[in-house]
Amino acid sequence: MKIPVLFSILVLVSSSAFCQTQTYYKGNTHAHSLWSDGNDFPEMIIDFYHKNGYQFACLSDHDILQEGEKFITEELIDKRKRSKIGLGAIAKCETRFGKDWITRKTVEGKPGVVLKTLENFRGQFEKPGEFLIVMAEEISNGSKTGGVHMNAINLVEKIPSVKSKELPADVIMRQSIQAVIAQEKKTGKPILAHLNHPNFQWAVTPQQLAAVAEERFFEVYNGHPSINHLGKEGVPGDEGIWDIANTIRIAEMGEKPLYGIATDDSHTYHGGDVSPGRGWVMVAAKELSGDALVLAMRAGDFYSSSGVTLKSVDYVADNGVIEIAIEEDGDAVFTSELIGTRKGYDAAAEEGKTRIGEVFGTETGKVVRFEIPKDALYARVTITSSKGHVNPSFKGQKKQAWTQPVGW
Ligand SMILES: [Zn+2]
Ligand SMILES: [Zn+2]
Repeated sequence: MKIPVLFSILVLVSSSAFCQTQTYYKGNTHAHSLWSDGNDFPEMIIDFYHKNGYQFACLSDHDILQEGEKFITEELIDKRKRSKIGLGAIAKCETRFGKDWITRKTVEGKPGVVLKTLENFRGQFEKPGEFLIVMAEEISNGSKTGGVHMNAINLVEKIPSVKSKELPADVIMRQSIQAVIAQEKKTGKPILAHLNHPNFQWAVTPQQLAAVAEERFFEVYNGHPSINHLGKEGVPGDEGIWDIANTIRIAEMGEKPLYGIATDDSHTYHGGDVSPGRGWVMVAAKELSGDALVLAMRAGDFYSSSGVTLKSVDYVADNGVIEIAIEEDGDAVFTSELIGTRKGYDAAAEEGKTRIGEVFGTETGKVVRFEIPKDALYARVTITSSKGHVNPSFKGQKKQAWTQPVGW
């Protein structure tokens, strides 16, 4: 007799959960500090994310973790600053953390500082459930076409890059992914690896990105102005790359699609043009830990943003319906597009129902509902605000959000 009662409670819980505001952790997985080619102290960069409403942040320096001793001359710090306005980076850091915070040293007659390790400053910011620093690296490989950079998040040990000028980009990508998988096996900790900025130096084609099915993530948006986000004549931009690679994976390889990540890739923190706060992820993890964040992202339980905030994303597989609730932003008008590819597509088609990355439907408003076409291989939603990005990385950039592909 108790079964129907229990059943009705469950129905009530599940129906009230539908379209409720989800809890997301906001984070950036890609930023550079003085440990590699960034121009500010790592603790100052973390301070930015901590102050600006993020719950997690990664410092992903090129081929290095923030551990061990790293000496850097004052001369180099000044040179890297690029901006002549205001205090020097050292003075700014001392103003924030105190006069005796910075460890000074002179090596071969050159005055400089010993950078703080992650363990040295974690305690200044971290608080359970509120803020977390996740260990990361940008594995900065070379290839015969250019830089094949991959971020590895939730690392225990550094992963060496491959500085090849001969090997194809997909071979290099696979090597890095295999190194990531090997470390996961060794440490028992899940690691998220995302292919960065495929159009940087035009190094990675959509076909190559599709081919390495072990890679499940790539940057659909990266805030660095030199990564060719919009593509060029004959080369798709990052969203176009996403649709081509996902179509190949699902239709031709029987593999899972890629999930899209938005990141900062910030290098300059004193007014330069590679500044932070441009792109981030919102992760519906069950708790704020490195492992839980990686597992939630692997399950597709996140969206990416460059300024549009979503209250909820609900996908019901049974009827192929996706519903999205968007948070108000003054008088902003939101245009949502359901994008995907149909079975029987024609890879050469540039428009119509056979094209890759067809716009299945467009809705405006703060609550949108789409029915995914029955013959779709997958579908995803891009939401674009009528408001411009507050710190654009390209001309005319609007605030956007990207949900992950579903229905595959
Ligand atoms: Zn890079
Ligand atoms: Zn980078």
